[in-house]
Amino acid sequence: AHLDRIDQVDGAVHAFLHVDREGALAAARAVDQDIADGRPVGPLAGVPLALKDVLTAEGIPTTAGSKMLEGWRPPYDATVTRRLKEAGVVILGKTNMDEFAMGSSTENSAYGPTRNPWDLDRIPGGSGGGSSAALAAFEAPLAIGTDTGGSIRQPGAVTGTVGVKPTYGGVSRYGLIAFSSSLDQAGPCARSVLDAALLHEVIGGHDPLDSTSVDVPVPPVVAAAREGANGDLTGVRVGVVTQFSGDGYQPGVLRSFEAAVAQLKQLGAEVVEVSCPSFDFALPAYYLIAPSEASSNLARFDSMRYGLRVGDDGTRSAEEVMSLTREAGFGPEVKRRIMIGTYALSSGYYDAYYGSAQKVRTLITRDFASAFERVDVLVSPTTPTTAFRIGERVDDPLAMYKADLCTIPANLAGTPALSIPSGLSDEDGLPVGLQIMAPALQDHRMYRVAAAYE
Ligand code: GLN
Repeated sequence: AHLDRIDQVDGAVHAFLHVDREGALAAARAVDQDIADGRPVGPLAGVPLALKDVLTAEGIPTTAGSKMLEGWRPPYDATVTRRLKEAGVVILGKTNMDEFAMGSSTENSAYGPTRNPWDLDRIPGGSGGGSSAALAAFEAPLAIGTDTGGSIRQPGAVTGTVGVKPTYGGVSRYGLIAFSSSLDQAGPCARSVLDAALLHEVIGGHDPLDSTSVDVPVPPVVAAAREGANGDLTGVRVGVVTQFSGDGYQPGVLRSFEAAVAQLKQLGAEVVEVSCPSFDFALPAYYLIAPSEASSNLARFDSMRYGLRVGDDGTRSAEEVMSLTREAGFGPEVKRRIMIGTYALSSGYYDAYYGSAQKVRTLITRDFASAFERVDVLVSPTTPTTAFRIGERVDDPLAMYKADLCTIPANLAGTPALSIPSGLSDEDGLPVGLQIMAPALQDHRMYRVAAAYE
């Protein structure tokens, strides 16, 4: 049924870069056979899923939205992919994304943009716009995204779906094509909080193949989602971050947020305002740290090891082939990040830029820590605006970057955060997201509050 739905709507939405029809049907039939033969099946047996094209799946084209990897078929599964398969999940295919996960609209994909199912002239968010659009268009009930600065939560918000960035280290990065290694985090995308929790428990947990994976049990997110469903938040302390409003925030988004806060109070939560002053510097710090790490990570695309190779006609040196390949293979946003990152890391500038950004990162972590002495969770709008029009911000990188104003602090601090739908804006009728943030490894707290609110 989901493959049929993809046939019907994906021509217009373009959520998928590759549909693995044969593989999906074979996986579904294998589950049917296991059930028929009385063999035990995994917890998500037979459930279809859309996988962001930044995670490897053995033998299936994986591009990370870039020409650089066109035609590359990875010889191995990411840990996330492997765990999905072990749980019986049916992987439908790979979803569209901004090139190497750099962007907020999916317009930086080398394969054309994805469109928002709510309004095909608008962006579905990014970088994981394909995964969230697939959910919103009912092409898949579950999806996987990755969130370096907001790429799960912001697409979730603007498509009216649920997106969760787990605690950094909570889900393995093995087989996740690296953008900014100290920030990258894979997580679940779904249409309900409980669905996200069920997926979170399947993909989460320690992995010896990722040295930054935390060696603790997966937080009890399914139990928390079930507990929250009773709608009682008595005794739960909720902090409203005062930094996330004012200039650049659509009144319709702020009104939706106020209504959400009022509803949390009605459910019994105790609501207070909390100031996190260094959050104001999160965006500039992120746009030094993320490009710095990207400039280093993307050095591996040297024309020798993966995918594209341009100009290798026997007359050119390896250096010339490398430079021709990188010129042709990377899009403009990726080149911009590599240049910014290389500059910020260069001798004589390191302390002024990268070093200062790391100090801001510490201040943000401290702001979270002192906030969580007073409250159990923090809330904010997920994004300052609803989905903008395709093309509206492509020539204005700063406007594009601002889509992640509210989501970036949690990445810098490594703390978990999610976005759930909080209705439609009374300004333009488009979905608005409510962001709920929790302390590191307390992912279950935000699931409980989200399930109660939902
Ligand atoms: N929009 C942000 C960026 O362009 C975040 C992307 C992400 O989370 N992968 O870097």
